Amino acid sequence: MSAPLVGVDLGGTNIRAACATGPTTHGPITWRSTPAANGPEAVIDAVADCIREASGGQTPAGVAIGIPGPLDPGTGVVHAAPHLAGWTEVPARDLLSARTGSPVAVRNDASMAGFAEWKAGAGAGARHFIFITASTGIGGALVLDGIPHDGIGSAGEVGHMPIDPQGPPCLQGHPGCLEGTASGTAIAAAAKRALAAGRESSLRDLPADELTAKDVENAANDGDALAIELFAGAGRALGRAVGGLINLLAPEVIVIGGGLINAGDLLFAPLRAAVPEMAFAYPLSKCRIVPAALGTDAGLVGAIAWAVHTFG
Ligand SMILES: [Zn+2]
Repeated sequence: MSAPLVGVDLGGTNIRAACATGPTTHGPITWRSTPAANGPEAVIDAVADCIREASGGQTPAGVAIGIPGPLDPGTGVVHAAPHLAGWTEVPARDLLSARTGSPVAVRNDASMAGFAEWKAGAGAGARHFIFITASTGIGGALVLDGIPHDGIGSAGEVGHMPIDPQGPPCLQGHPGCLEGTASGTAIAAAAKRALAAGRESSLRDLPADELTAKDVENAANDGDALAIELFAGAGRALGRAVGGLINLLAPEVIVIGGGLINAGDLLFAPLRAAVPEMAFAYPLSKCRIVPAALGTDAGLVGAIAWAVHTFG
């Protein structure tokens, strides 16, 4: 049996790994809790452990790993990972390569998920493709003319496009970027601001400092006016960003994934309604805007597909 190719999805909570069985398919998943508070070395050790179990102790012929944060896929250095303590300018590729004895490819987790949706999900077959993932933060990935587009390394950060100069900042400090306006974190923060300003809402019954976008989604599904308004605002911001992307890149498909899409029409109805505010009619008429198909599997499937693409 030849040495396996391994894909890894490193998240703030869990690490998941599996061996490729085909271009976008994988064998059994092994996992570990992410020792996120213990620093980069501990996390890399846990990743190496997970890989060793997935590969049955064989040295993999190649490993691809998705990491949540801005990074340089060329050098394998992670610039920052907001949900992992101490991850500033971490040479993740070289550290993991030294632990496993294998060549390693490192990409942003949203890039991996986008690659999966393009290879095997809702964007399959498109030459011009944009992926947006909206959950705690907002990330994305671009495929231009059939090739994943990284620019000098970090292209595809659709979450940090400008939306409203008066808007709240994201965690990276950009005032009024898409992530600061329409992410799950932004929706929860907007709910807290509205409650502090005295708005009536069933959200008042919940502990204010623990309020999440999921709570807002539940309240909206129960008809709460403030909650519906907050999703409408996030959906409109996303729709305007989608419109701008259509004007800029004229894709065939824009796939929208991430936890926020579980809100369904609470998000998608205002999103779809807002796209024509910005988009030119002709490229809009040629572009499909669809929910992601692979769900929470996209990160791992993308890492598998990237391992095969890079080392296969
Ligand atoms: Zn930002």
